[in-house]
Amino acid sequence: MALFGRERITGKTPDQLRLMRKAGLLVGQTLTMLQERVEPGMTTKALDALAEEHIRSGGGIPSFLGYHGFTGTLCTSVNEEVVHGIPGSRVLREGDLLSIDCGAIVEGWHGDAAVSVIVGGRQAGRTEDLQLIDATEASMWAGIGALAVGQPLYAVGAAVEDAIEAAGERDGRTYGIVEDYVGHGIGTSMHMDPQVPNYRVEGRGPRVIDGTTIAIEPMITLGDQDNRVLADDWTVVTLDGSRAAHWENTVAATVDGLWVLTEVDGGAAGLARLGLPYAALV
Ligand code: MG
Ligand code: MG
Repeated sequence: MALFGRERITGKTPDQLRLMRKAGLLVGQTLTMLQERVEPGMTTKALDALAEEHIRSGGGIPSFLGYHGFTGTLCTSVNEEVVHGIPGSRVLREGDLLSIDCGAIVEGWHGDAAVSVIVGGRQAGRTEDLQLIDATEASMWAGIGALAVGQPLYAVGAAVEDAIEAAGERDGRTYGIVEDYVGHGIGTSMHMDPQVPNYRVEGRGPRVIDGTTIAIEPMITLGDQDNRVLADDWTVVTLDGSRAAHWENTVAATVDGLWVLTEVDGGAAGLARLGLPYAALV
């Protein structure tokens, strides 16, 4: 994938960041609700209906619905599906590794986030799946921690990759880091410049400026990173059939620190764990 280091970052004003927080908070609350409601026997379409109802009753519009013809409010990607799974008649089973990606628009501003969970709860998960989920989430936080005003944007992907390699050493395996799909700028559209690789690349990328808002979204597999798109033209699956996890947050960087717009607590707890400055606007 071609990456252009000259891609521009457009900084958001404090008022624009506050609007993005509205969208991000609605996305975060929707994902929290879905994690509580998902259970074996449920179809991905039923989960999707819960999400749409929650977003609309919260004053938002599902941003994925109708996006290039996409038919869901969520992307629901199960087991060897990496991203962009279409909600439908598939019945979720205990022990499935489910990645839920959710986007919403509030007052014209976007939020975009994803979580990976085990259907039926962690006790129903295979050890390797739990380790994959945890490694992917930790790598997302490492990427968030590398986002800072004045620093090169591509430090984010380098931090993700370092975190995944460290997790692989700890867990005794080599995780695959999917390179065909990247994070992105976000604001008045879901996908904006700049592209944000979730892995180490040559070059430094643009310098992060005050009010930068990006989505950081590592996609990690238990096997190789190679993948293909199914005949539905959306669902991305690993070529080797290995399971994949996907975590994502929309994050704002200001001179004062970080605001994780799609975490319900704004990222306060996660940033504190990493010793990073939490800088929500009031
Ligand atoms: Mg997403
Ligand atoms: Mg995204």
